[in-house]
Amino acid sequence: MRKFLTAALTGVLAATMLFAGCGKKEEASDGGKIPEKIVVGTNAEFPPFEFVNDDGDVDGFDMAVMKEVGKRIGSDVEIKNMEFKSLIGSMESGNLDVIAAGMTVTEERERKVDFTDSYYTAKQYVIQKENGDIKKAEDLEGLTIAVQEGTTGDLLATDEIKDSNVKRFKKGVDAVMDLKKGGSDVVIIDSNPAQEFIKANEGLELVKDLFEDEKYAFAVQKDNAKLKDAINDALDEMKDDGTFDKLVKEYIGQ
Ligand code: GLN
Repeated sequence: MRKFLTAALTGVLAATMLFAGCGKKEEASDGGKIPEKIVVGTNAEFPPFEFVNDDGDVDGFDMAVMKEVGKRIGSDVEIKNMEFKSLIGSMESGNLDVIAAGMTVTEERERKVDFTDSYYTAKQYVIQKENGDIKKAEDLEGLTIAVQEGTTGDLLATDEIKDSNVKRFKKGVDAVMDLKKGGSDVVIIDSNPAQEFIKANEGLELVKDLFEDEKYAFAVQKDNAKLKDAINDALDEMKDDGTFDKLVKEYIGQ
């Protein structure tokens, strides 16, 4: 677990140093543009950050924040719902301006996209059947672990848990269903969706404090500093005038 986090932190540090130390990089940082219509990629399977609401629309905290950011920047916002594991590739091929998907900043991802300031801290929780045996990370060794494909939960189960048998699902909810029907021993998934899934399903419980914190941020195309800065400024404004907290209360409820 430590290795995992250290790698992530080293990435952030390296990026900061690059920015501070290298004139060329700073020049490039003026680059990019703010599109008239910001195309935002998400995976609406991650409540409360993104989900499909009763009207069939993509809704959630990230969407509400991005719509407000769009207003403040003066751009329309179009939401594209796709598989989580396709988001970064889609941005690399120029099809997305922003990823808003409860996405954790990692070193690997920072090689492919740029991240805005972080807007939320989360961690990986374990979901197990009620009165389960898991109390510490080592208890997960050798188990069948259900995850959402391409997420940090997937990475953790794959790289950090010894002898794990990882079952990858396109939707977090399908991982939870697999646990319920006995196809896997546990689910590893982000804290807020984990809490939502527990509320919606009987007979499950959470193990909360096994892993380190993760930081969520919005992703933009590499070197689109104009858009990144504009989003950061809008986020700062929203924090200052209370809009951000209002949306946290509305969607996340703390
Ligand atoms: N925070 C996790 C990640 O970035 C999961 C995000 C998600 O499933 N939408 O990998």
